[in-house]
Amino acid sequence: MRVEYDIKLGFKDVMFRPKRSTLKSRSQVNLQRTFKFMHTSIEWTGVPIMAANMDTVGTFEMAVKLAENELFTAIHKHYTLEQWNQFLADAPEGIENYIAVSTGTGANDLDKVVSIFKANPKLKFICIDVANGYSEHFVGFVKQARALFPDKVIMAGNVVTGEMVEELLLAGADIIKVGIGPGSVCTTRVKTGVGYPQLSAIIECADAAHGLGGQIISDGGCAVPGDVAKAFGAGADFVMLGGMLAGHDESGGQVIDIDGKKYKQFYGMSSATAMDKHAGGVAEYRASEGKTVEVEYRGPVEATLQDILGGVRSTCTYVGASQLKELTKRTTFIRVAEQENRVYTK
Ligand code: 5GP
Repeated sequence: MRVEYDIKLGFKDVMFRPKRSTLKSRSQVNLQRTFKFMHTSIEWTGVPIMAANMDTVGTFEMAVKLAENELFTAIHKHYTLEQWNQFLADAPEGIENYIAVSTGTGANDLDKVVSIFKANPKLKFICIDVANGYSEHFVGFVKQARALFPDKVIMAGNVVTGEMVEELLLAGADIIKVGIGPGSVCTTRVKTGVGYPQLSAIIECADAAHGLGGQIISDGGCAVPGDVAKAFGAGADFVMLGGMLAGHDESGGQVIDIDGKKYKQFYGMSSATAMDKHAGGVAEYRASEGKTVEVEYRGPVEATLQDILGGVRSTCTYVGASQLKELTKRTTFIRVAEQENRVYTK
């Protein structure tokens, strides 16, 4: 047994230290980024915030709305080939730049992804998602996907440590999904005791990925726009959101009325709710169970997007970053007592 004694940090453990700035207004901040990828010649430009591949968030409706704002959606894996074909037949032009086809690592999963790409060769992004990205089987699957799709951008995860980021990049992934246990409806830390504070995971994994020319996605744990800014400040290239995008018209699920108030259901992809819905198809998705919660119905997602983007732009002005790209360089985090941040977030 070994114990690592250096402290690892989560979003709540830090704040940005303000810095002298020449920026007059947050409208001067550019949130667009352009990325080149490690294994393909594709270049991507957009706002690097993405909807999670959960069936309550990563929907076609969400993708259309997010793409209008140049944001990305990892479409959940439960749409059929027919649904994909139908969506793409009427989808806005250029949507393929802002969506990924998600998959697990089962044989059926692979067959489905192959058929979706065969029918729709303009699609560019694949998101290979498992609970535990540390298994040899997973690395093998990433290699197989790279051989099958030499010209597509592959996102793969989830992991939380630098050495596994490197291994997956070298196996053929372009972008690594980082986060084990921080998700708002995830119970991995409770059920298994496994996890890694998200801010430290981002800092360590970004360093490993950037050293090889790869990127990372910070996946899970953002509850307020300030957390999204902190994820970028720590070095995340992309930030993936579940709970923050739940409860909207574009999110999956029905509006429920409880005592005259409107709610929408939001649940982890390995929760009992998800398993019931997808009949065993998600059992392998997350190592441990997820929760089901009712989130307040929040209407169209547009207002929430503007709130998130406005928050991140404002962070940039506080530290003097005229572009999102400069935020990490301009970031000094100060460690704070969690108590302090509780007051600040509520
Ligand atoms: P959030 O933004 O809600 O904090 O986190 C979203 C992320 O939680 C997803 O992108 C995914 O990585 C993770 N997640 C989704 N469903 C489950 C689940 O059922 N169990 C676990 N452990 N993680 C989940």
